[in-house]
Amino acid sequence: MNNPLPTESKAQNRKRLFEDQSKTAQLWRSSNPLSRIERLIKIRSWIKDNQQAIRDALKNDFGKPETETDLSEIFPVTAEINHSIKHLKKWMSPKSVSTPLPMLGTSSMIYIEPKGRALIISPWNYPFNLTIGPLISALSAGCTAIIKPSEMTPHTSELISRMISELFKPNEVAVILGEVDVSQDLLQLPFDHIFFTGSPAVGKIVMKAAAEHLTSVTLELGGKSPAIVNRDANCKDAAEKLIWGKYVNCGQTCISPDYLLVHESQLETLLVEMKVALQKMYDPDFNGIEQSPDMARIVNDKHFDRLTRTIEDAVAKGAEISFGGTAKPHTRYIEPTILTNVTDQMLVMQKEIFGPILPIVTYNSLEEAIAYVNSKPKPLALYYFGKNSEDTSTVLRETSSGNAVINDCVLHYLHMELPFGGVNNSGIGKAHGYHGFLAFSNEKGVLKQRIGLNNVTLLRPPYGIRARQIIASLIKWF
Ligand code: NAD
Repeated sequence: MNNPLPTESKAQNRKRLFEDQSKTAQLWRSSNPLSRIERLIKIRSWIKDNQQAIRDALKNDFGKPETETDLSEIFPVTAEINHSIKHLKKWMSPKSVSTPLPMLGTSSMIYIEPKGRALIISPWNYPFNLTIGPLISALSAGCTAIIKPSEMTPHTSELISRMISELFKPNEVAVILGEVDVSQDLLQLPFDHIFFTGSPAVGKIVMKAAAEHLTSVTLELGGKSPAIVNRDANCKDAAEKLIWGKYVNCGQTCISPDYLLVHESQLETLLVEMKVALQKMYDPDFNGIEQSPDMARIVNDKHFDRLTRTIEDAVAKGAEISFGGTAKPHTRYIEPTILTNVTDQMLVMQKEIFGPILPIVTYNSLEEAIAYVNSKPKPLALYYFGKNSEDTSTVLRETSSGNAVINDCVLHYLHMELPFGGVNNSGIGKAHGYHGFLAFSNEKGVLKQRIGLNNVTLLRPPYGIRARQIIASLIKWF
């Protein structure tokens, strides 16, 4: 017979941990910029001292090349820390607002206060960056945090757990390792903010659970991010940028160009240039892309099978493999694969790909491309390649996406001044820099009556002619 006690006691332990963090959260409400900066500095020092351990963990999890770990796991986190350290004092200061005429005699400020107890649930695809990045924002805002990293990248999750236990007391920041049940258990607790990064399907589960306590959420989700290559785009330039943006992390990137929309006059040239770019970047010595030290592997067998099935489904329904197509189960290697002749009936055009497959859809007019984008849920990112500024404005104006990049892709992630995130199906709320800090903060509007003169006395009951006259002029003039 199963003994239910261990599970029960684990749940009780989590509840106790949450209560301990509640006390710290109350204390941290008064924390000054310096004490918050100290917390960020110790994370930065730990990363510096353990850079090789981070690289090794990611290499063990899915063969991530060290250079890509430095660029896409470590640099975004140290950039987030440095940016916060530089601006935190200003971000935390109360901001005064102007006084409108009907409020004469008062003064008002916006105070920024920590929301309090945060829960961070992170995915596997950039497991270090997408766990520690939100933590930097939470700590900058003065919040405590319980972190639930992904079970799919055990080496990195273990390392994060070690890092946090070396740097923080559990009543400040704690990591809880485990599978989906752990996540669901944590979601029962009345956190003050949940920062979730993952799929739209799980995002809905998180939002439903958060609704129970009216906990605010930041949902960093995914989806199919299109890249439009218009008739006047420079194909060589677009090809090089798209190949890097697509195949970094082996296509397992939330903002990876999921599919291309290519003006039909550009298709042949773009295909040639993309093949040249693949050769140049991943196979300069003609040993085969599989030998490239710069190509990561698929994270696990489940995702490997999903991706190979996606290619088979497309081919069975009439897609052409313009490049790649081979897959090796024992090493979970999937060759960068470019598909043409694709239709909406294929899986590859229905679900987020999240792997090294790049389908191409052609169009005749920009209106057609825009209508295609708008026929699908709003994407996390939209990329546009083209020279004409009117066309660029049209695309920006007539489509909605979390972020957009013109004549490049993926780079916006590294820009700390830009809000990063999705819209509707691709996410709710924004991350990075000030926007990440705000996600974990409450902007409290505070009004102070300065002159003691009660300028609204005339508006109190019993309402008479005078009150009605004043209200009529308020409506007319303000
Ligand atoms: P996922 O949604 O399957 O899992 C994310 C986290 O949620 C994991 O920690 C997991 O344990 C937990 N989880 C899974 N199922 C759950 C459930 N039923 N209840 C509660 N918690 C649950 O996502 P993933 O496969 O790890 O990551 C891939 C997805 O994340 C893609 O859709 C990708 O686009 C998206 N993503 C988005 C961003 C972004 O910044 N917007 C960044 C990276 C990844």
